[in-house]
Amino acid sequence: MTAPARKFVVGNWKMNGLSQSLDEAGEVAASLAREPATARVAICPPATLIERLARKLEASSVEVGAQDCHAEPCGAFTGDVCGDMLHDAGATLVILGHSERRDYYGETDAKVAAKVEGALKAGLEPIVCVGESLEQRKAGEAAAVVRRQLQGSLPDSLKGRDFSVAYEPIWAIGTGLTPTVPEIEAIHAEIRAALDERFPGQPVAILYGGSVKPSNAAEILAAKEVGGALVGGASLKASDFLAIIRAA
Ligand code: PEP
Repeated sequence: MTAPARKFVVGNWKMNGLSQSLDEAGEVAASLAREPATARVAICPPATLIERLARKLEASSVEVGAQDCHAEPCGAFTGDVCGDMLHDAGATLVILGHSERRDYYGETDAKVAAKVEGALKAGLEPIVCVGESLEQRKAGEAAAVVRRQLQGSLPDSLKGRDFSVAYEPIWAIGTGLTPTVPEIEAIHAEIRAALDERFPGQPVAILYGGSVKPSNAAEILAAKEVGGALVGGASLKASDFLAIIRAA
């Protein structure tokens, strides 16, 4: 069992945020400067805000990440952004394999693994997302699906590198539904076992994601093997995100 000592709370703004949203992040940083949290904290805004947010949070404890990156370092990929560009803009982390990317852009495990390789080469710390659909859960396949995704999405080059895994049941994302604590613990135990097999002795945080909010954060973050939270909707409002951070 190798979990980092500090919980890791990551905000995923998805395709939300204009210039004025920087103030919301500024509020989070200011509160954490006045009263430091025990958790490690990061915000992943849309790519258009990374550079400005990184500048704004330069002197703060809040890290800035991206939500996706291309696997290749450069080339004819209109509209895409590579790891080096994100790193150059000030990102230190990147979320990869989010279920919305897997669903809407057909990202396979192999593609996610290639993106992880690209991110590592660019010096970005990956947060790799896995999680089952409602149909898969109902069919009793959740653990097998997550194990398969981990096997395919985590390249061997992660050995010795900093990275996190986020367990995000697809049916819990943005729906207000959450698994029970025993259900979360069961999948996190599976993930830990898989990580211990592939990356023995390596400290890897396993985040939970899916409708984490101020009212359920303490219970979820106290669950066994939950090393933090990946927070979507509730990370858009400083007061909600801070409440989750302070519950960790
Ligand atoms: C997410 O987008 O990763 C997520 C967990 O969203 P939400 O917290 O809104 O369910």
